[in-house]
Amino acid sequence: MYDILIKNGLIVDGSGKPAFYGDLAVKDGKIAKIAPSIQESADEVMDASGLQVAPGFIDNHSHSDSSVFTGSDSYNYLEQGVTTQVAGQCGSSPAPYSETELADAKAKLDPEEFACWAAKAQTPTTFMKAAEEQTFGTNMAFFIGQGSLREKALGYSDAAPTKEQMDIMQKDLIEAMEAGYLGVSSGLVYAPSVYASTEELIELVKVMKPYGGIYASHIRGEGDNVLRSVQEAIRIGEEGGAPVLISHLKVMGKHNEGTSQKLLKEIDDANARGTTVWADQYPYTASSAPLSSQIPPKYLVGGIPVLLERLKNPEIRQQILYSIFHEVNEFESAIYSAGFDGTLIVGASKTPEYVNKTIGQIAREEGKEPIDALCDVLLANDASMQGVYFNQCASDLLRIMAHPRVFLGSDWSDYPDSKVDYEQAGGGHPRGTASTVRRLELVRDFRLRTLEDSVKNLTYDTAQAMGIPEHGLLKEGWDANVCVFDYDRLHATADFAHPYRQSQGIHYVLVNGKLAVRDGKALGVRAGKVLKRK
Ligand SMILES: [Zn+2]
Repeated sequence: MYDILIKNGLIVDGSGKPAFYGDLAVKDGKIAKIAPSIQESADEVMDASGLQVAPGFIDNHSHSDSSVFTGSDSYNYLEQGVTTQVAGQCGSSPAPYSETELADAKAKLDPEEFACWAAKAQTPTTFMKAAEEQTFGTNMAFFIGQGSLREKALGYSDAAPTKEQMDIMQKDLIEAMEAGYLGVSSGLVYAPSVYASTEELIELVKVMKPYGGIYASHIRGEGDNVLRSVQEAIRIGEEGGAPVLISHLKVMGKHNEGTSQKLLKEIDDANARGTTVWADQYPYTASSAPLSSQIPPKYLVGGIPVLLERLKNPEIRQQILYSIFHEVNEFESAIYSAGFDGTLIVGASKTPEYVNKTIGQIAREEGKEPIDALCDVLLANDASMQGVYFNQCASDLLRIMAHPRVFLGSDWSDYPDSKVDYEQAGGGHPRGTASTVRRLELVRDFRLRTLEDSVKNLTYDTAQAMGIPEHGLLKEGWDANVCVFDYDRLHATADFAHPYRQSQGIHYVLVNGKLAVRDGKALGVRAGKVLKRK
């Protein structure tokens, strides 16, 4: 007697071998049997006639770290077939906290919440333990953020670390590797991660070598500076002895169209000479990041309160405007490549009337210069805002997507469990809802790779690259993470005006043997667990 039996599906097992028709049985959280026909009974039998049965998809770039404090249904991921998220990206992780973060949390949270947060976010070890005690809809794996390590050791200083400060960062990184993190991530456009030099990063990643830890990086520039930024990431891995994962690989700036050919050649050349390099990507031509992070980081030295003071000063506003558009070599703002009319506000909790409008639109409506509209909305929201930047070309997106060493990374996070309105206008990026479905759909329609290769890339290849053991295949004895979908009918309906619309074509999702999605709808089941580097 099995728990679940999936019958008559086309089994695409993640290995890349030809798909075949058969049945798949699940018992006690594991895949118990895969065979052309299974006759034994099961508590629940699902007919997958006309559907594909694959391993659950891996989102290699998520920001769902704070789910460790709250728990999460992860429904927006489950409903796109994702059964594993890899969080802690772009240089930022909750642990270890800095003195400033501790003081902020103490001021903001009630005493009980604060005590709970502080106990969990104190060190990589306490965070990993908290994650293992928490419940999630999907499995979770973690990187530790280099920005967080640096903030603890140096605060928001742009100085080079002293020997003692480097020791603190290295010790915390070793602790993270011992605790089962996959590696360290940097976010070299975000303060304080951005203040690290190439040499500092090499020195830091060196300590991961005995663990095989990965250096993941949101690189220093993704447009005019993208080639040298990819080269920097590869050099850090090469000299620091770490495999490299380039985060959300893209080419910003429509005038840079075609540069992806050079980037992929850099990646191929590095692999040919023995430095392991991968990348991840979300399948959209608009990026998204906090609006404050598009202000050149020299204006963020000292932290957000100091930035807010600077934004009030008309002369500094003009300097910021000049810097965004003329000091691109120093810092590449997404506003430079998107323009004010391509900069859409998607998160502004204190001024919701601005959500779903561009900075250019707000400026015209209020009779202001765009730079003043930008600074005023930042001030009105204490700089806590999210933007979307329309700044890339589809040709580069597809070329990057077709590369075998590029995985899927949504670069988004779990939605709150009180479900949002699927038809809500604005307020997000479709990548949080539909990244895997859109990737599969584009790969299918542009014939970038076969179904078997497409599934392998989204599952086993990603798990192998990240060092997650026994994961990403439909294999007897392995955890039953399964996605049943209709390949021909997969369709991402979410767009920038309706970023929450549900995708079509995902039928069932199993997480560790538990049915988590039925007929495309998440059931609120939290069967995920923490996956650690072997
Ligand atoms: Zn990033």
